[in-house]
Amino acid sequence: MGYHFKESDFEKYVNDSLRLDEKEAIEDHLTECDECFAQYMAVMEDWSIPYTTTESFTDDVIAQIEMMQPSMSRKTKSISPKEQRRKTVYHYFLAAGLTIILMFSGVFQFMFNLSEQIELDKEPISEQLLNGASGILLTDTDREGEDNE
Ligand SMILES: [Zn+2]
Repeated sequence: MGYHFKESDFEKYVNDSLRLDEKEAIEDHLTECDECFAQYMAVMEDWSIPYTTTESFTDDVIAQIEMMQPSMSRKTKSISPKEQRRKTVYHYFLAAGLTIILMFSGVFQFMFNLSEQIELDKEPISEQLLNGASGILLTDTDREGEDNE
């Protein structure tokens, strides 16, 4: 495999300024080439928003790393800097994936609304609970009264 991608290619890739077939060519190459993958990660780290990679590609890379790690630890007993880097990369993708999941599941929006609501509500939550409880008690009493008649 004589051909490798350049750093500028990966910069274009993370900036999303490549055609689809060009992006696919890079993605295909990254899954097989450690050298370019390391370079790609370096570009990614400089670039703060990693969300342009397609989700399937992220999954492919994680699967690839998982496949590579056992064989690597068999070959070398001590953890090489390269392997250490792979582990960092793995956690990096994992964290990025979690952030995306949280964002899309609306958890951030939910927490924001909740804190806003608490600030706006003058009535303490304990009092609200008390009102709710007495409401239930009243309903029960009413029902009992109906039964007795
Ligand atoms: Zn390469």
